[in-house]
Amino acid sequence: KAEDEARARALPARTTDGHVVAIGANVNNPEQVPLALDQGAEGVGLMRTEFLFLERGDTPSEDDQYATYRGMLTALASRPLIVRTLDIGGDKQVAHLHLPKEENPFLGVRGARLLLRRPDLMEPQLRALYRAARDGVPAGAPVGQHAPLSIMFPMITSVPEVLALRAHCDRIRRDLDAPEVPLGIMIEVPAAAIQADALARHCDFFSIGTNDLTQYALAIDRQNTDLAPEADSLHPAVLRLIHMTCEGAARHRRWVGVCGGIAGDPFGACLLAGLGVHELSMTPRDVSAVKARLRASEIGDLRALAARACAQEDAAGVRALAHEIMGAVA
Ligand code: PEP
Ligand code: MG
Repeated sequence: KAEDEARARALPARTTDGHVVAIGANVNNPEQVPLALDQGAEGVGLMRTEFLFLERGDTPSEDDQYATYRGMLTALASRPLIVRTLDIGGDKQVAHLHLPKEENPFLGVRGARLLLRRPDLMEPQLRALYRAARDGVPAGAPVGQHAPLSIMFPMITSVPEVLALRAHCDRIRRDLDAPEVPLGIMIEVPAAAIQADALARHCDFFSIGTNDLTQYALAIDRQNTDLAPEADSLHPAVLRLIHMTCEGAARHRRWVGVCGGIAGDPFGACLLAGLGVHELSMTPRDVSAVKARLRASEIGDLRALAARACAQEDAAGVRALAHEIMGAVA
């Protein structure tokens, strides 16, 4: 029985008609990787590096960060790793960085905005990542193979930000004689979703941060417990932004992931697959239920369901569609 369950968890999230969705885990340190793999994750779709800064009382050095990224690659043994650069600001404040106090930190200098203003934070992190990409080739890999590492930037709002970050990456990569690394961006600001076609031209992939995208689309502070029931990532306005993101990405043949909380909800995962999302990354404990649900679905049904969801008037209308596809999973 336990063996059957383990075997089922290892199966890909392939729908009954053969459409495959990649499944990653949101994991922040190498120690969490074995559990995530055991749950059926196929890689790490989001490593939040701010935890490297939050869990210790000081700023990790370039070498400290390099060791952690190498540790992740080793634990993952050739499976993909997407590392998100520091996303400090908003709800994640770090006392020892001495950042200026802001009236509205969620609308302030956070994520990529901070990185671009603080070379002392950006340089060591990008150098550590490119060194890990250069050196972290799995044992026995063919000559010339690179570590399966991708870099992702949070809180992107505009094309010039992406161009500036790319330029820094290129310079550092050349300095280190490191390989090219896929560069992706988080889509978590409505402006980025609306301009997805323009942004897709300048990066290799998208990952939608539905936690922040919901906060910014609905103007609901993600930490406000009074408004929590209304901050639903399945609100039709959020779904339409996700749809726009997928369309913009498709125009330039880029892949789209989702790494916000709704990716780990089986009904949410079905809608996201139906909207055209290629990869879902979630907390390890959600992986098996999401895989089982997708494996019991037909992609044509999910596409039809997603179109109806986008046409609903409110989140309750979307949620009411769940019973239509959420029968028992074998
Ligand atoms: C998100 O915003 O959905 C996300 C994945 O990033 P974080 O929760 O770390 O802001
Ligand atoms: Mg976010």
